[in-house]
Order: sequence, then structure tokens, then C-alpha cells
Amino acid sequence: MDNSAPSLLSLGLERLGVSLTGDAQARLLAYADELLKWNEKVSLTAITRTDEVVDKHLIDSLAVLPEIQGATHLLDLGAGAGLPGIPLAIALPGLRATLVDAVSKKVSFMKTGAVKGGVADRVKAIHARAEGRPEKEGLPQVDLVISRAFMDVGPFLQLARAYLAPGGKVVTMMGQTPPAETLAAHAAAAGLELVSRRTFTLPHSGDPRGVAVFHVKR
Ligand code: SAH
Repeated sequence: MDNSAPSLLSLGLERLGVSLTGDAQARLLAYADELLKWNEKVSLTAITRTDEVVDKHLIDSLAVLPEIQGATHLLDLGAGAGLPGIPLAIALPGLRATLVDAVSKKVSFMKTGAVKGGVADRVKAIHARAEGRPEKEGLPQVDLVISRAFMDVGPFLQLARAYLAPGGKVVTMMGQTPPAETLAAHAAAAGLELVSRRTFTLPHSGDPRGVAVFHVKR
């Protein structure tokens, strides 16, 4: 990334209302630099322009911080290069994160990215195909299941439910955000309930985003 990255990151976080230490911001940028370095050899992301990496990878991942407050162990399904799990672990020092991807070279990068981001002690990257059988797959049941750009929301909720510990919640990150009634219907089909739905725009690109939270029907 070029030298505009630190100011783009701090300005974007400010616009988002997120406050992060200078150290955490530096570790986010170190992770993103490593991602672009690997990307020259291993295809990990189509987004390579500095302003877009900051906006669409780092800030987009951190935009869901309000929704994940209080979580202790996050499971990021289809994490790819570690998004949103690694930025979230960098931002929240008390959070453990398990990141899963079906492609082994992505898992290799996630391990290095976690080291560069200074979170390797709390981030575990697992090479597995998530199919809803956590024990067989060696995956945990957690209090927060999240994913970005992984599956349509209906099938994702069906899958995510299998990885929820009692009292846990599912967070979905979306580009196009269905109306609340549609999300509630998908939730009901998976035995879940819609807790909240929020839409916003990314601070630099202005791209629309949405985030919804679900929990087990009581
Ligand atoms: N979350 C990342 C990557 C999204 S691409 C981001 O937002 O940038 C979707 C990823 O899901 C791919 O890396 C793909 O390998 C992975 N994937 C697809 N199906 C999967 C499954 N059943 N289990 C684990 N990973 C899967």
C-alpha cells in the first residue's frame, strides 16, 4: 500500500465512529501489506488499490464492531484471507477467533496474516469445508458465527446454526441488504430470530453495506 494508507484508515475509522489505538491501526496495516505481498503470488483478493483495501477490507470488517460487542469466541466461516476475522481480532484484544476456509493456500496466508497483525496467540486458522458437522470437521461451537461474502443469507443461517453454542448469535455482513421481513423469514426457516438489521455506507467509496444479527428462537 502507498503512504496514504495510515491517514485513510484513521479518517475512515473516525467517520465510522470507531476508536482504535495507533498500535492497532499499525497492525491492521501490517496485515494488509502482507496480504498484498502474498497476493502477487497467490490469488487472495481482487482489491489492491490502497484506498480500496483500507475501505473495503479493513474498514468494512470493523464496521460490524457494534454488532459483535461482548463476543468471546468468533467463528469466521469462509474467511478467505482472514476477513473479517483478523481485523476484528486486532480491534478486540479479548476476542478469540477461529477462521475457516476450504482452500489451503488461503489458510496458509491467514496464519501469516495473524502473525503480522500481532494476534497469532488468539487466532486459529483451520483448513476445512464447513458443512454443518462441527465435531467431525474439527470446528468449535461458539458464541458468535460470522461471515462476509460467503453464502446467501438463507443457506448461511441454516449452516451457521450448527456452530452456535447456547445463547450465541449469528452476524451476517451484506452488500445488498434484504428487508427485515425477508431476513426474518430466512431466520425462521433456520430456527433463528432476527435481532437487528442496520445499513450504512463505507466512508471512502460510499458503497452500501448491511449487517444483521440473529439468535436462536426462544
Ligand atoms: N470472507 C472473505 C472471503 C470471501 S470468498 C472475504 O470477505 O474477503 C468465500 C470464501 O469461502 C472462499 O475463500 C472459499 O474458499 C470459502 N468457502 C466456500 N465454501 C466453503 C465452505 N463450505 N467451508 C469453508 N470455506 C468455504
